[in-house]
Amino acid sequence: MFGKLETLPADPILGLNQTFQQDSNPDKINLSIGVYQNAHGVTPIFTAVKKAEAQLIDAQETKSYAPQAGDPLFLQHMTQLLLGDSLSAQLGDRVGAVMTPGGCGALRMGAELLMHAREGATVWVSDPTWANHFPLLQSAGLKLEKYAYYSPETHAVDFSKMLSSLQAIPIGDVVLLHGCCHNPTGADITPEQWDQVISVLAERQLTPFIDVAYQGFGDGLNEDAYGVREAVKRLPEVLIASSCSKNFGLYRERIGAVMVITPDSKTTAAAKSHILTAARSSYSMSPYHGGGIVGHLLSDPALTQEWRSELEQVRARMNRLRGELADGLNQSQTVKDFSFVAQSKGMFCYLGIPLDAVRALRSEFGIYLLDSTRINVAGLSTENLPVIIDRVSKVLQ
Ligand code: PMP
Repeated sequence: MFGKLETLPADPILGLNQTFQQDSNPDKINLSIGVYQNAHGVTPIFTAVKKAEAQLIDAQETKSYAPQAGDPLFLQHMTQLLLGDSLSAQLGDRVGAVMTPGGCGALRMGAELLMHAREGATVWVSDPTWANHFPLLQSAGLKLEKYAYYSPETHAVDFSKMLSSLQAIPIGDVVLLHGCCHNPTGADITPEQWDQVISVLAERQLTPFIDVAYQGFGDGLNEDAYGVREAVKRLPEVLIASSCSKNFGLYRERIGAVMVITPDSKTTAAAKSHILTAARSSYSMSPYHGGGIVGHLLSDPALTQEWRSELEQVRARMNRLRGELADGLNQSQTVKDFSFVAQSKGMFCYLGIPLDAVRALRSEFGIYLLDSTRINVAGLSTENLPVIIDRVSKVLQ
């Protein structure tokens, strides 16, 4: 059966990580990974999450199956976190939410729902987008196309190009948008630009599929939900994939949610039944543990407060590092203006340096970033910043 199989190439990001692990350079620095790290290079467990988990385990009396859609507390609080209390209350049963194995599970279940609704539908993704969007959506059977997004020249969103690109999308297609903290570029659209994007979606009857993997990592929990909330207020149908990997630090627990909003509760119930059927025919139901933790945490005001302030510290640290990297690079060389680095949102940013400079950083100095020049801002620290600034300046000379 399996003898004829060829070994497939490793995922480029995971592959680079392996090369990093094998690199014998004692001063090596990894800026290519996709997880948050603290000043000691550790991906910490939030204290509030640790407490919620201990309380959950203590109170748990059974490991029997949870409801197929997932823990009801989790689903209720995740909807409120994303949409805000008043909008969630207003929407009521027009929102259908299902717990999923991570944001990836949410994207895949959203893709399955789109396939059930319109087989072979086309989803438009930003150019560039997170590399895993392609296999996740294509393997469900959807077609993918790209809309204009980032300008390597200005290191920012080319908004007029983006808008005209969206205006040219055939009526009725799906548009995948990053809710906040665009991965990989770190370049987000402003609230005013969201308003304009949503107007185009409304005019052309395009369905937004919004990927929210970093709520709280950009400008704050509510600020980062601006686009999602406006889309839900102004458009009849919205599909959302959310993840608790980053903002709750629950990466390995695999927890997220897919949410569908339609014009009425009957349509929502039908759409939700398609998500549940798709889940049933692959993994049946999501792992419970992460959702149990988040549901418990968000229903406890003191734990919620503690988590919010820890998340705020994470955000503040990344903002400080971003600013220090931009200033340091601007002071140490004259080849390139790096001020745009300070404007980036979330965990990632494109450095926008030539590919030979990326490769030289890796081979000469053991500093690892992706070929696209994406760096993980959380991989920077007070200790490694001077080294990184010095080495980047050297390879640019
Ligand atoms: N979407 C984007 C844009 C991401 O960056 C990620 C995580 N790297 C995800 C979704 C999903 O992450 P997970 O499945 O680990 O929750």
